[in-house]
Amino acid sequence: MQPDINEELQRIVESLKAYTELEKKSGSEFLSYPKDRKEKKGALTDSGSNGKIRRSKKEMLDELRLEILRSDCCQLCHTRTNLVFGSGSPNAKLVFVGEAPGGQEDLQGLPFVGRAGQLLTKIIESIGLKRKDVYICNILKCRPPNNRNPFPTEILACEEHLTRQLDIIKPRIICALGKFAAQTLLRDQTSISRLRGKFFDYKDMKLIPTFHPAYLLRNPQDKRLVWEDMKKIKRQLDKIS
Ligand code: URA
Repeated sequence: MQPDINEELQRIVESLKAYTELEKKSGSEFLSYPKDRKEKKGALTDSGSNGKIRRSKKEMLDELRLEILRSDCCQLCHTRTNLVFGSGSPNAKLVFVGEAPGGQEDLQGLPFVGRAGQLLTKIIESIGLKRKDVYICNILKCRPPNNRNPFPTEILACEEHLTRQLDIIKPRIICALGKFAAQTLLRDQTSISRLRGKFFDYKDMKLIPTFHPAYLLRNPQDKRLVWEDMKKIKRQLDKIS
């Protein structure tokens, strides 16, 4: 028997509405169609050969964000208010990786927007960049209750998301903020005081650990060391461009 075309259309409209609602709740721009569809040269990352769909880094990051949003990969997704995926330029040459969202980040769904975040903004600006020029994310995408330290199981569950994020962005330099980011990415349990200020190879990128801005709020005397690290990052960035 021929399905009733009106019923079928109604069903499609309803499922599209439900999907749009889901996207809105997640705050994703995935569905919003960019006004200017003309891609800049070099902005496309998937080769167009073999009939493959070519997607921009932004589109790939949006897809990854939705994928994480739909999965419950560790218990933190049950206590978070918002997923804190990351923010900034998908084409950034410099990526900052922190530990995990805190209270403000959890409420706003954005990384480093609390007191430590304000200091990170100043740190970024100290080398002549703006937050929109870099990309900022965390090892964990969900807030640990009461801002406790991440559990190793949580780091293990979430690490793949960060790896995929970095694989899409392909920055030249990663600045690991604090011990959790540095030790996780480098697979090295050496203390942050000994790791900081040195460049390490991380895949085909350079990784430099430095102190976490929240640590600097408690230990302002160490800001000068972070300033030294930032100058090294600036010199490296100048060499690249
Ligand atoms: N501390 C972090 O490590 N990340 C944030 O996003 C905020 C504070």
